Amino acid sequence: MGELQVFDNWIDGSFVAPEGGARMVTTNPYTGDAWAEVADDPAAVDVAVAAARRAFEDGPWATMPARERAGLMRKLGELLTRDAEDLAKIETRDNGKIIRETTAQAKSLESYLDYFAGMTDKIVGQQIPSPSPNFLVYTERVPKGVVGAIIPWNSPLALLTWKLGPLLASGCTAVVKPSDITPVTALLLAERAAEASIPPGVINVVTGGAEVGAAISSHPGIDKITFTGGGATARHVARAAADNLTPTVLELGGKSPQILFADADPEAATNGLLAGIFAASGQTCVAGSRAYIHEDIAEDIIGRLVDRAGQLVMGDPSDVATEMGPAASDAQRDRILAMIEQARAEGATIAAGGVVDPDLGGRFVRPTIITDVDNLTSIVREEVFGPVLTIMTFRDEDEVVKLANDSDYGLAAGVWTTDIRRGHRMARKLHVGTVWINTYRNVSYMAPFGGFKQSGYGKDNGLEAMDGFLQTKTVWVELEGATRDPFVIG
Ligand code: NAD
Repeated sequence: MGELQVFDNWIDGSFVAPEGGARMVTTNPYTGDAWAEVADDPAAVDVAVAAARRAFEDGPWATMPARERAGLMRKLGELLTRDAEDLAKIETRDNGKIIRETTAQAKSLESYLDYFAGMTDKIVGQQIPSPSPNFLVYTERVPKGVVGAIIPWNSPLALLTWKLGPLLASGCTAVVKPSDITPVTALLLAERAAEASIPPGVINVVTGGAEVGAAISSHPGIDKITFTGGGATARHVARAAADNLTPTVLELGGKSPQILFADADPEAATNGLLAGIFAASGQTCVAGSRAYIHEDIAEDIIGRLVDRAGQLVMGDPSDVATEMGPAASDAQRDRILAMIEQARAEGATIAAGGVVDPDLGGRFVRPTIITDVDNLTSIVREEVFGPVLTIMTFRDEDEVVKLANDSDYGLAAGVWTTDIRRGHRMARKLHVGTVWINTYRNVSYMAPFGGFKQSGYGKDNGLEAMDGFLQTKTVWVELEGATRDPFVIG
């Protein structure tokens, strides 16, 4: 094990050591070695919130013309592209995600900042028709204020940037908490924000674990919380936020169905199913983990899936040839294996995988395909967040709509059919935030993303993401002198 790199919190434009000195380590899940040490000090949240408040109310950010704010956001985007390869390597070192994906994500950050930079001068209110001629009534859209942004480990930079784009465009300031598993890249992003001349205090990063997260979600000085992560944590966040009546956006997990009709292109559908569940070792919120395959094609498709799952190249995630990396932590691996065992105990058949690869150091769960399950089996109902695909069959459209919608979650769904009318009909009937037809896992800065039901509320991306960080102020102006009884409302 090499020497640990040490990172302090980023507060008010510079690295600041935690006052009490409390720290934690972050580990490379591929090698199992700790490689960096970061701050883990809930008291730092107070300092960061104060800095974000000053920047929001008194600093140059507060009065900066929209176009200038856009310019700084675009500059940050350019710097992130300049350093994308290095940032991707660090991300892969921290969470074990394959380098092809972390590189593609790091290179996409600029497009997100650029898109939202274009929003800065398009934040408009309305002139409201006046109830009588002597009033002018209008609205302004104003920033919410200081935002607490709590981020998970599976796509740390991408998911942070999804939030920073609209947050910065609207004029808010941020206290960011990256995941304790992947704390470093958020600090490096903040450092680049300073290089881009984004004023001190606009982006603050406080690293650490659950206590730091709790200090953010319960902080009375925070005006808005945007959270991406698991449902159990989200409930803590929402409860703590409720005490201060702090509004929240919650982007949570899923148990997304992939539905294959008999007329689906078998090759494209097989690729879509494999990529949908195994590309990020299943560690993606939109993992297509429940396959419903029409009974006429089930045998053929399951055969293809099992064959291809056995051929996926697993190994060092920093090697571009690798198609599937390790679980992000030992705890995550143990959880995945326990859920597979539970499925077996409930009568499921493990058609592929189901075990740790004996040749790869104990952290790789082999691509797993499970049959002989139904909507009552626990592994079909609960998010695994691992490389586990469950397969069920169906006979007709009405039946599969019911099966697909029979879930606590509603994040996304895939539909594979060559019948265009059926595709759109399915999109209308599925209770999920995103439907992909003959494709899977596409996201864009332009397309709103977020879940229904227990997959959360509020949206990242697209025009709607701005709503999360703006509020409406109504202004009444009396134009001709007092003409009415001031003690009567109306
Ligand atoms: P998690 O809920 O364990 O952690 C998320 C964040 O919350 C981390 O920064 C963590 O340190 C912090 N946290 C932990 N306890 C806290 C507390 N008591 N109060 C406040 N913050 C606290 O999630 P994870 O394991 O990092 O990520 C995986 C989950 O995220 C999965 O459920 C996945 O589906 C979901 N996810 C959702 C989306 C989406 O956009 N819908 C995207 C990616 C991941």
